[in-house]
Amino acid sequence: MDYDAVVVGAGPAGLMAARKIASKGFSVLILEKEKDLGTRACAEAVSFSAFETAEIPPSPSLISNTINGAYVFPPDETKGVKISGGDYRGYILNKQQFLYALASQAVSAGADLKMRSEVKDVKMEGGRAKSLVYSHKGEDKDITFKYLVGADGVGSRIAKSCGFDLSGFEIIPTIQYVMVNCKVPEKDIIRIYMGNEVAPLGYVWIFAKNEYVANVGIGVRGKPAKTYLDKFIASHPDIFGGSKVVKEGGGGVPVGGQISEIVKGNVVLCGDSAGQVIPITGGGIRTSMGAGSIAGACIAEALESGDSRALTKYPASYGEYWGVRIGRSLKVLRALEELGDDDLNLLGSMMSGDDIVDLANGLNVKRVVAKFSRHPILAMKIASKIL
Ligand SMILES: Cc1cc2nc3c(=O)[nH]c(=O)nc-3n(C[C@H](O)[C@H](O)[C@H](O)COP(=O)(O)OP(=O)(O)OC[C@H]3O[C@@H](n4cnc5c(N)ncnc54)[C@H](O)[C@@H]3O)c2cc1C
Repeated sequence: MDYDAVVVGAGPAGLMAARKIASKGFSVLILEKEKDLGTRACAEAVSFSAFETAEIPPSPSLISNTINGAYVFPPDETKGVKISGGDYRGYILNKQQFLYALASQAVSAGADLKMRSEVKDVKMEGGRAKSLVYSHKGEDKDITFKYLVGADGVGSRIAKSCGFDLSGFEIIPTIQYVMVNCKVPEKDIIRIYMGNEVAPLGYVWIFAKNEYVANVGIGVRGKPAKTYLDKFIASHPDIFGGSKVVKEGGGGVPVGGQISEIVKGNVVLCGDSAGQVIPITGGGIRTSMGAGSIAGACIAEALESGDSRALTKYPASYGEYWGVRIGRSLKVLRALEELGDDDLNLLGSMMSGDDIVDLANGLNVKRVVAKFSRHPILAMKIASKIL
């Protein structure tokens, strides 16, 4: 056996999983196909508690900006709701440095990390993964392990090769620009724009990273994301007049909720590969780290005890907190998908900042929805679907 565990993907999920396994003294190899960490587009927003989940201090070198609230704009932008203070504060990370920090923790715990190593195939035997083939600088290599972690994001090769049931896995396509010289009015307040003209079945975000740079992106379903983002930028010259795009990226964000099966034999899926993202916000950094952390601890327990049944604790434990939140947020997303712009404007005028944050994150949903139950249209379109 080459390694006790192999982790595929050095994103937030994989790096946490590897750290947890290595910290118990087991041998772990992380395989990452890219030549650098953090190359994938990301708006980089997290709540303060992301650092607790990451189990590292919020060092200034890992943070681009501190966020004190959000503006959420319904189609009628004059009805924007400001959310500020309390629990709504967070950071725009320097995600690449953040991932370097997570990698540093994993390596210092004893994990081995190989970049430019793309997993091509997994060999299965009797329902268990026995070995895998990865390509490193044009050369194919075989490797054996006791446990395998598929933390390889959207389109996971591990999920497909190991025969996971991916029905219900749904992504929203996104495009993000890194822009310079934007005139974002309050740089410590993130801005979210909704509406069928602005971003059908999705939203536009403007997250300032500092006084010079902002992450500006869009997620939409069934329409061309770039066309809508360019239209949004052109229609907001007060913010974007004189600004320029310096980097363009994007990718799919899972919004269909967690898939039904996240453990199969000696293989676990964590993070985007398992659909572990809050569906309304598309936030997956913290949920993925949480998954990696729990799955890694369960693998370490299985290795310690010699009993692979310890892996069944992963879905149960993840479901208790994260699974419930993902499920509730998905329910709210499904109800919001039915709303036209007039309904969204009405909703915007009735909701407080607390309501928006709770709904998006799947918290206190009953309290918020009870508020709409008194309104005939919203009662029918939202309350009845969520409660
Ligand atoms: C445009 C955009 C904006 C976003 N903004 C936010 C945000 O503001 N806040 C937030 O919380 N979340 C955000 N997200 C979501 C967040 O980025 C992801 O949910 C999170 O990164 C998932 O972590 P992960 O470790 O599961 O997967 P990933 O971060 O995708 O990491 C997977 C890793 O696996 C590697 N890999 C893939 N296939 C292979 C293979 N075959 N062999 C070896 N390596 C492989 C990839 O190169 C990658 O490094 C955003 C996503 C997008 C696309």
